Amino acid sequence: MPEALLALGGNIGDARPTLDRAVAMLCEAGDVRLVAASSDYRTPPWGVVDQPPFINRCLVVETALPPIALLERAQAVELMLGRDRSRERRWGPRTVDIDILAYDDLVLDEPRLTLPHPRLCERAFVLVPLAEIAGDRVIAGVKVRDALAGVDRAGIERLPPR
Ligand code: ATP
Ligand code: MG
Ligand code: MG
Repeated sequence: MPEALLALGGNIGDARPTLDRAVAMLCEAGDVRLVAASSDYRTPPWGVVDQPPFINRCLVVETALPPIALLERAQAVELMLGRDRSRERRWGPRTVDIDILAYDDLVLDEPRLTLPHPRLCERAFVLVPLAEIAGDRVIAGVKVRDALAGVDRAGIERLPPR
């Protein structure tokens, strides 16, 4: 079955339970199966810095869904968890963001779905949790662990399990 890597994050409301609910909702139809989940990390905001810190978590999933259907599932979950894209600014506060980092080794270059995720290698808030569960995975020719060595992970704090 295809394997996808997902990045979840949020900074409105009680983000850790929201991410728990997002994982459950992604998987509840049985066509997305959780293989591994990282710890949660508290991370400084990226892109727009005058907002609260984020909670970030990465997942490895197996899925019977094709890539666009997986994106639609992720967006449906975002909507059900209160995300309203029409009222937000880019990289601003949100209850939950669910991005597809990679889908097997598929390369897609469309605005609706770009794979691997184009900003993955600049983002410590993604690479730190991802390295915990997929450090040896090679994405676009770069090992996750090596990409992590190239970013500044200042201010990122691993949260203990609840
Ligand atoms: P960023 O992509 O920089 O993390 P964002 O996650 O805040 O920004 P969103 O508002 O969640 O951006 O999504 C904007 C659009 O990005 C979505 O409508 C979606 O179609 C598109 N998109 C393209 N590639 C991907 C991907 N790999 N994962 C998720 N969304 C993607
Ligand atoms: Mg995002
Ligand atoms: Mg997104």
